[in-house]
Amino acid sequence: MTYYNIDFSLLDKTIKNFRIKPQKILLQFPDGLLGSPLQSVVNFLIERDIEPVLSADPSYGACDLPLNQAKMMGIDHIFHFGHSTFAFPPPSEFKGKISYFPVKVNIEFSWNKILEEIIILGWKTVGLLTTIQHVDKYKFENETINNSNITFVQHKEGQILGCNQDRATKIASSVDGFLVIAGGDFHASPIVVATNRPTLRYDPFNETFKLFDEQFRNKYLSKRYALIEKAKKATNWGVILSAKSGQFPKDKGSRILNMLKRKGLTAIPFIMHNVNLPHLSNFETIDAWIITLCPRLATDDYIRIKKPILTSRELAVVLGDLSWDQFITPKTGEHLLTIEEFE
Ligand code: SF4
Repeated sequence: MTYYNIDFSLLDKTIKNFRIKPQKILLQFPDGLLGSPLQSVVNFLIERDIEPVLSADPSYGACDLPLNQAKMMGIDHIFHFGHSTFAFPPPSEFKGKISYFPVKVNIEFSWNKILEEIIILGWKTVGLLTTIQHVDKYKFENETINNSNITFVQHKEGQILGCNQDRATKIASSVDGFLVIAGGDFHASPIVVATNRPTLRYDPFNETFKLFDEQFRNKYLSKRYALIEKAKKATNWGVILSAKSGQFPKDKGSRILNMLKRKGLTAIPFIMHNVNLPHLSNFETIDAWIITLCPRLATDDYIRIKKPILTSRELAVVLGDLSWDQFITPKTGEHLLTIEEFE
């Protein structure tokens, strides 16, 4: 059984530190925490005479805060659970207070099994990466690891996002492969793409392993290459802008529109809150799409839309500003797969 640890002392301290005790707090939780973790926070606030209000839209990350809902409800405080500010600093346009509460998962890792898998792969130096739920240093400093002949390396605390592989790219040249501790494939699959290092995913919830290797990377890149080639024939482009707080592209959208227009192509901005890719297929006159928000919509969900959908870095290849070879071998500080792929 999995237990989620809400840090109630941090919650208490945060509330006590406010100059004026809030009357209402807007709560936001990701899907996995909508049961008892959410209820325990609701109870905690009610006991303190604070009215909890729930933001009930799906929450995918700290890139997606309910700023408009807070404004409409006249609430000055947002408590966001399950993600940290990493890669998405609090938006300055919100004049109220946003507090972040990462939620730890109380689950043991099978280090013996993990080491067995790594020994089979023949890795001696391993980059250790994980998601915010497992960033908990003590788990990586135990006797089993210390007694093994394997060296684990982390850049900072090793936290990764689906759209940010910084912690991996910074150490890629000094490791044989990466171990990603995370549920599902979402966080692990971009690591091999971004670093060109084999990546072993360990899912602590069901104790399964999956290797993302060169073959996986080549298959991924050949799919992207095919979409880029198809998009080269497009003359009428749709540029998707997000109404989500941390994904709102500010001037990025206009830069992309200008890139397209400079090449004599037609480009129309489309703004939306939750991106519904099948719905976009109804805009039949659009030949290809550029996504300026969560890049994973283009890289993982492209199959759900009829026309090619690309990231802004891929657009640079279409327009001849970046060669394919430059695209697949990013320089230090550049990323194959982040929200700011091409500036
Ligand atoms: S932009 Fe996408 S991958 Fe990045 S944090 Fe938001 S939802 Fe996750």
